[in-house]
Amino acid sequence: MIAAAANGHPRRRRMASAFEDIYTVPTRHLRQSPTAVRIRLTAAAFGAVMGTLVLFGWAAGYDSLTRIFPKLSAMNPMTAICVILAAAALALRPRPDARWIRVLASLIVATGAAKLAQLGLGLPAGVDQLLFPDQLGRAVDLPPSRMAPNTAFALVLTGGALIASGARNARAILLSQAASILIIAITLFAMIGYILNLVALYEVRTFNAMALHAAIALFSIAAGIISINPDVGVVRILGDKGPAGALARNLLPFVLLVPVLVGMLRVSGESFGFYGTQHGVAIQVFANVLVTFALLMSSIVALHRSDQSRRAREAAVARSEDRYRLAERIGRVGHWRYDFETGTVDWSDELRVICGLPVGTEPSLDTAFDLYHPDDAAAARSVVEQALREGCGWDTTRRIYRPDGELRFIRSHGACERGEDGAVRAVFGVFVDVTELELARQEAEAATASKASFLANMSHEIRTPMNGVLGFSELLLDTELASEQRRHVTLIRESAQALLKLLNDILDISKIDAGQLEIAEEPFNVRHGLRQCIRLMTPMAEQKGLTLRAALDSSFPSDIVVDGLRLRQIVLNLLGNAVKFTQRGSVTVSLGEGADMNGLRTIVIKVADTGVGIAEERMAAIFDAFVQADISISRRFGGSGLGLSISRHLAGLMGGAIALESKLGRGTTVTLTLPLTEAPARAATGDGLLPLAPDGPVRSGSILLVEDIDINQELVTGMLGRLGHRVEVVSNGEEALHRAARLTDDPDAWDLILMDVQMPVMDGLTATRAIRALGGRARTIPIVALTASAFAAEIQECRDAGMDDHLAKPIAILDLAAAVARWLATPTPVPAPAEDVAMSSLAQRFADRCRESAHRLATITAALPEAAADEVDALLAEAQAIAHILAGSAGMFGADALGSLASASEEEIKAVRERADARAAAPRPIEALAAALG
Ligand code: ADP
Repeated sequence: MIAAAANGHPRRRRMASAFEDIYTVPTRHLRQSPTAVRIRLTAAAFGAVMGTLVLFGWAAGYDSLTRIFPKLSAMNPMTAICVILAAAALALRPRPDARWIRVLASLIVATGAAKLAQLGLGLPAGVDQLLFPDQLGRAVDLPPSRMAPNTAFALVLTGGALIASGARNARAILLSQAASILIIAITLFAMIGYILNLVALYEVRTFNAMALHAAIALFSIAAGIISINPDVGVVRILGDKGPAGALARNLLPFVLLVPVLVGMLRVSGESFGFYGTQHGVAIQVFANVLVTFALLMSSIVALHRSDQSRRAREAAVARSEDRYRLAERIGRVGHWRYDFETGTVDWSDELRVICGLPVGTEPSLDTAFDLYHPDDAAAARSVVEQALREGCGWDTTRRIYRPDGELRFIRSHGACERGEDGAVRAVFGVFVDVTELELARQEAEAATASKASFLANMSHEIRTPMNGVLGFSELLLDTELASEQRRHVTLIRESAQALLKLLNDILDISKIDAGQLEIAEEPFNVRHGLRQCIRLMTPMAEQKGLTLRAALDSSFPSDIVVDGLRLRQIVLNLLGNAVKFTQRGSVTVSLGEGADMNGLRTIVIKVADTGVGIAEERMAAIFDAFVQADISISRRFGGSGLGLSISRHLAGLMGGAIALESKLGRGTTVTLTLPLTEAPARAATGDGLLPLAPDGPVRSGSILLVEDIDINQELVTGMLGRLGHRVEVVSNGEEALHRAARLTDDPDAWDLILMDVQMPVMDGLTATRAIRALGGRARTIPIVALTASAFAAEIQECRDAGMDDHLAKPIAILDLAAAVARWLATPTPVPAPAEDVAMSSLAQRFADRCRESAHRLATITAALPEAAADEVDALLAEAQAIAHILAGSAGMFGADALGSLASASEEEIKAVRERADARAAAPRPIEALAAALG
């Protein structure tokens, strides 16, 4: 199946693969080596020069050119023509010019064959008399100049060899080489004959002899023909770099030359009369045997050496194979290879071990696919098929079952081996047994999931009682309290707030870890949002004597699309740090447009301070959770080390980044960069600070509170009462459902249901679904969830169950007021008389309180100079408590400036109380607040 997939695409597309270069193997063997080309062209040049000189000799009547030595046979002019034609054919390139080579070679064959035919038929006239017929028989005393039969035969072979040498098929090339070797033998015999004066070697019977230079020219042409295809046949061995090639190149010239030279010496010795024929033969035989023996011995020694080095290399390869096997075993890595051309599959031993197959099992291509987990098999197969089709690699983790049923996790990598032409030749795969790693990963994931759910549960458990602590301390502070009591309740509220902040930070971190933190995209007025943040931090900055500046670029678009709440969280954290870590000087918040990032506009918010700064080596680390610049920090300034880590994650989730510049002792600048998308004009309504306030007056409503915990019932009832609403309370979902059944026929039924989510008997989600199922008015009445959970998934669950809104515990009165207002606001608000009463009585109470406070503060200011040392603190505590109440309630009545001043005074009085010079410094904040009230 896989083979079929690949066969279907013989010219596979070349794909970029990381492994492509590693596995590219050359497939074309028939390549012209530079040496072969040099031999071919030299032979061609030599033949062309030789043939031309001979022709010139005939034309000009120079015997020394036509026959070299006066007594030797001349080269027939037609032979010279054939030598020139052969040289021309050799000079052409065999592949593209094959047609021309065939034409030239055919002329040579025709000439040789015509001469042979003439001799065979005994005809007097022949093709060799076509040129210079008069000169051919000119001198009676010279050897005749007709073409020799062995020359004619060699010409036929030369033409044939030239034609066959251009063929693509190896058998024709072998034939061409065989013909060339025959030419070499014939011409060599002739040359040896001339050297040793053995006429029989160059003259056939009584016919004309082959001319010496004809023999030399044809010899060199034959060598040239052989070099056309150096990679085929025995010639390939001659060019081989291994021992066989070296032996052939070293030995063959000697084997041919030595007997000839020895023979020559013997003949010369005889002619000089040094010895007779008998001794001559003996000397020749002895010399031949001796030289042959020496040659053989040197070859044997060379072969032995090469064999030894081959064995050493083999041993090194074996050692390296042992090491790779060991490496595979230790690393639990196995490999396989499917050879596309032979259809064979190889497996390493370790692969068999990983798959639980006995060592020695002969695998097939399907063996591994049969082992795959049924859910993974098809995907695994298709990955390999795709690799074969497209030549790409893969890297996946899959499950296999060993034959004994054990499940293993395997990481499978693969790549294709390609030929030089880009075609896939083989597939190479690696299996890594990652079972332990995978199980550990799954365990870690399960642990993370259980940590997340533990945190969610703990958050619920902690938020519920904190709801009580915060809410009741708020209510308590709104009653008549002795100054000591007020101070204690204030401390309770502050501690609960600090605890809630820490809880929120830890929850944020755990949500980020679990990838559950979602970023909303909504229109937001960023300039307004930043101003709100600055206003919130002003009291703290003023208390430390710091200047808090805002440099908000007025040309910056006011409405942008961003998660306003999260942006505010980041800015408040950066501002909080800046104020916290600055003892004198200023903190500046600036807003502007930054440089484009990847072609997108950016918003840049900078918070710069002149504070303690951060040491360079700590800068990278402080973005990690729970890390502070130095360990004395938490003692001096408090804090958990979570703020920057959360801010950086939030910025990242919003598609931006946070950068830090700091000099120890000089100050710090933190830059927040976010992508900038302008919101459509007038779309931004939120400032990220508070839930939306109702557009118009809100009528007093009738609310059903479904809550099981009595203190929560009391708290929310108290708050709703203060907001002027009527409340009916039930303790679980089932009771709520019974009460809801009367919705349609009771005109006085409630306007809104506040529904706790987790309750005994019937939870809030079930109750909501059941209420919605009642139909009629029950289908549309607003239901607001009271959740202890901060996770988006659970909030979504509430919405899915049919709830309209949610309020997170602990519930702040302002949030409750806003949520109720949102659902009770009518399109044409008609203030109900009850609401007027409630609102005006609350506003009246607030005004009364301001007056009382002013009066009391004046009394305290007056009493302080005369007060005994132990009374001073009690007086200051009372002033602080008054400031606190004003700070907490002024906002609700639209007196923001008074609220800020009151909270600044509160902090200042608190700080003064902690110092020794309490009496001297105390009146300033008290007087300031009293003046504001007056
Ligand atoms: P926290 O302030 O709760 O300790 P953060 O993550 O907000 O945690 O800050 C980590 C640490 O980075 C701080 O404890 C402080 O050492 C250092 N740091 C942050 N902002 C500043 C700043 N503006 N100036 C000096 N140090 C800072």
